[in-house]
Amino acid sequence: MFDQTTYFFRRAAKVMGIGERVQRLLENPQRVVKVEVAIERENGDLATYTGFRVQHNNARGPFKGGLRFHPTVDEDHSTALAALMTWKAAIADVPYGGAKGGINCDPRELSQGELEKVTRRFVQEVHEVIGPQRDIPAPDVNTNAQIMAWIMNEYSRINGFAPAVVTGKPVELHGSPGRDEATGLGVTFCIENWLARQNEEIKDKTYAIQGFGNVGNFLAHHLDQRGGKVVAVSDVGTALVNPKGLDVEAVRRHVDETGVLEGYKAAGTSEIPRDDLLYVDCDVMVPAALGGVFTKDNAKDIKAKLIVEAANAPTTPEADEYFENNGVVVLPDVLANAGGIIVSYFEWVQNIQQFRWELEDIRSKLNRFMGKACDTVYDLSDRKDISKRTAAYVVAIGRVGKATVLSGI
Ligand code: GLU
Repeated sequence: MFDQTTYFFRRAAKVMGIGERVQRLLENPQRVVKVEVAIERENGDLATYTGFRVQHNNARGPFKGGLRFHPTVDEDHSTALAALMTWKAAIADVPYGGAKGGINCDPRELSQGELEKVTRRFVQEVHEVIGPQRDIPAPDVNTNAQIMAWIMNEYSRINGFAPAVVTGKPVELHGSPGRDEATGLGVTFCIENWLARQNEEIKDKTYAIQGFGNVGNFLAHHLDQRGGKVVAVSDVGTALVNPKGLDVEAVRRHVDETGVLEGYKAAGTSEIPRDDLLYVDCDVMVPAALGGVFTKDNAKDIKAKLIVEAANAPTTPEADEYFENNGVVVLPDVLANAGGIIVSYFEWVQNIQQFRWELEDIRSKLNRFMGKACDTVYDLSDRKDISKRTAAYVVAIGRVGKATVLSGI
């Protein structure tokens, strides 16, 4: 996966003609931390997992990025995703560098108590390299506000009260209003901004969303609220399709109650195999789960003419090239899903100031940040006749490169 992100980086670096020195400084991570996470399970067995924290670049500010708990977590994935965070923070223009990490466990196999043990153990192992001015983790795949609360508590036990060490905390425990919906709402703003350029609106389009976790769930809600027709959604088990548009709020209620899409029944809605969601008829396809979804094998079968990357790294370079050559517009991850890190920034600022902002205030600030980032990327893409992804990387590399040169090696 790191090869993929490096490919996109080098493609943009070539367009910019940046020097070989800066390119070398920006390409590789600054620090890779790998730790053993050992716990005693409730049945007395010993369980050992591997945890990672990769800190890619902090030229523009403290490292920032999510922690995922998933069997696919390894050094390569964490490094690729950490680099994406560096570019994302720069495009969103929030004062951070990029990091990522996690633990290669499957939370579905752990009890709540075991999950807490794994989380606290990880913090004990990495507490020296994270901190409010050093590296600030956040939720990602399979991690949530409760896990962030344990991280804050464990870190604070070692270092003293430090709510700003992590973002995405529960609102009742120094979290920010609007952080839970932030990525999904940010994706909505990104789509809205793009469509406005073609004199279109969210309500004019049909949408398919792959993944119904935190991002897909809130995205479906916000699209639906604006009159967008969500015709298909999927999770790890199944996909639901209704060409006339799903009753999004009923689907969300079903997921709240049962945890999964499976078993949802409504007139006009059918279940199809999970991966078939990618090929349904729709205007906008939104991957909102894991990476590596679009490949050279399936790119030609995607019917949507607009792809919006709510997930990180869903498109391989081969698929990206196919989309570019065949008139499929891709709004890239480093722009489209930046709502999460933007509201994380708001949470961090509130923690440092010990002050609370209102939800409406957060939403309008998020809209402003996303709008500015989208305008910058879309304008550059038009001006230079390059893809949105290359334009986004050009903006990011320019900002991070400038900070690196100004700081000195
Ligand atoms: N995990 C999210 C992402 O990939 C959010 C990171 C953050 O808020 O720091 O962008």
